Amino acid sequence: MSNRPTILIVEDEISISNFICSMLSANNYNAIAAKDGKSALEMIASYCPEVIILDLCLPDINGTEIIKSVRKWSQIPIIVVSARHHEKDKVEAFDLGADDYITKPFGSAELLARIRTAIRHANNAASTTLSQDGVFSVHNLTVDFDKRRVWVGNKEVHLTQNEYKIVALLSKHAGRVLTYSFIIKTLWGPHAKCENQILRVNMANIRRKIEENPAEPVYIITEVGVGYRMSDGE
Ligand code: CA
Repeated sequence: MSNRPTILIVEDEISISNFICSMLSANNYNAIAAKDGKSALEMIASYCPEVIILDLCLPDINGTEIIKSVRKWSQIPIIVVSARHHEKDKVEAFDLGADDYITKPFGSAELLARIRTAIRHANNAASTTLSQDGVFSVHNLTVDFDKRRVWVGNKEVHLTQNEYKIVALLSKHAGRVLTYSFIIKTLWGPHAKCENQILRVNMANIRRKIEENPAEPVYIITEVGVGYRMSDGE
């Protein structure tokens, strides 16, 4: 055994699985593979991999069932891989707790970058420095959760209550994609109507206030059809 991070690839297409495994091995990861959902769940329980790369389309069970099952007991980062371009799959995967989503075909560099990010997030979450001092900052943006105040550089930004709530929620989950429905339900309760329009209007106002160029945001990134992600500086 080595201390190389273990990555589990859950993929029924053997050629793709072999390709990812050899690419990961060449990059100093310990790659293990499962070709269906049942063996994936067994391997997750016995190896506790650092990252799971999960194909949603499996022969026995739907990949989303694996996300549900794993999230009952573990926050292991899950990167969903799918050939399908349906936004519905993406949204569902994120709502169930997937960390990232990559669409086939993808390049080695892209997958490696996402694995590094997933591992970094998992490590950051474990150290929880962010919530302890009550301040989030990235680039020039600072969010003070105790005082409920936001600055860009040394200039205070005046946000409405809703705008502040959105910025604070995204900041607390920096680096992760939050779906529209997650944001709406978290901020306005489980019975709030999933009205993306309200969110979009607020986001346009937020961007006007915090971004240097609202058309090319650097702080809050749109994941088209899915939701928003606060930059964590990468
Ligand atoms: Ca498949």
